[in-house]
Amino acid sequence: MEKRNLGKTGLELTLMGMGGFHFIETPKKEVELLLNTYLDKGGNYIETAADYGDGLSEQKVGLSVAHRRKDFILTSKCMQRTEEGATESLNRSLKYLKTDYLDLFFMHAVQSKAEVDQIHSADGAFQAALAAQKEGKIRFIAISGHGQPDALEYAINQADYDVLMTGFNYYDRFNFPTAEGSLLQTCLKKNMGVLGMKALADGYLFKSFETAIRYTLSLPIASLVLGANTLEYLEQDLKVINDFKPLSETEKEALYFKAPELGDYVCRQCGKCDEENGFKPSELFLLEGIFDRQMDNGKVENPESFALRERLKHWFFQEEIALQKYQKLSPKVNPDKDYSALNSTCPYGIDVNKKIKLAHSKLSQKRFIF
Ligand code: SF4
Repeated sequence: MEKRNLGKTGLELTLMGMGGFHFIETPKKEVELLLNTYLDKGGNYIETAADYGDGLSEQKVGLSVAHRRKDFILTSKCMQRTEEGATESLNRSLKYLKTDYLDLFFMHAVQSKAEVDQIHSADGAFQAALAAQKEGKIRFIAISGHGQPDALEYAINQADYDVLMTGFNYYDRFNFPTAEGSLLQTCLKKNMGVLGMKALADGYLFKSFETAIRYTLSLPIASLVLGANTLEYLEQDLKVINDFKPLSETEKEALYFKAPELGDYVCRQCGKCDEENGFKPSELFLLEGIFDRQMDNGKVENPESFALRERLKHWFFQEEIALQKYQKLSPKVNPDKDYSALNSTCPYGIDVNKKIKLAHSKLSQKRFIF
């Protein structure tokens, strides 16, 4: 399997990393089969977290592959924000994983600047990571998060992280554009290793999984962490990885036009409907992206699609953040105004007038009544 450098760590990771979230519900024997098949097929990066089933995933990983520890790079993550809590969490991870060191130790799911400040405080979790590094319990310090690229960028500008992991996919690139924008660029400037996850947007792109994986791996990242809870899924993932060819810029542009998940509802942030010195629908739709990932589209669709969007739309729990930001947006939507003249400006066929009203309804009433 192709390998790429992980920034300044000197590690080389295979294009596919194996994520351990699904091991919570996967039986132990299946985990053993999945992980050993992955390693036998050339994969070298295994990842889990203390919070995946309160240590359940870590224990299954330890029982499955501890006997061949030298064959892979091992990561776990910690949700504790204090030095004491993080030290305890790391020690438990090492015990469950049956190892005496982790290659990467993540500050897990960092979602706000307040959390970052706590982690970096004098008795914060970052101190635990530094101490563990000195003791040889971990090799590199990493940070992960989703849906809040600005908090991650704030963190990496405050402290010296080796690796960052966040979600990259062709759906959420329009909801959280700074992930691929300033955050990724800052990481590259600092020679940090970048890991991708959520290539399928938490499962939303499952019908287009091959394109979704190709899209994410076409970014300048070291490896893409994928979860597989059956051998069939693992084989599918490995095939796409082994056949990987980067998407060209032309192919990406075509994808933004034709992807059914983006359709004629998700704003591609081209700015063509924005007034020069006035109301900018693109800014409103960015807030809608934070609110519900632009998943409530006011359309009657099939139950399968509706159920999936219902499950995923508030995945990052950021409704309140979006509402607060909407309070500050200026100029605001005039719900009585007809914005239909903007419809013809959108190259993606979005009914801008209707979307403006929907977004306003969500962001002013926390739901949409339309
Ligand atoms: S023209 Fe369409 S894609 Fe472009 S900013 Fe407006 S709504 Fe979004």
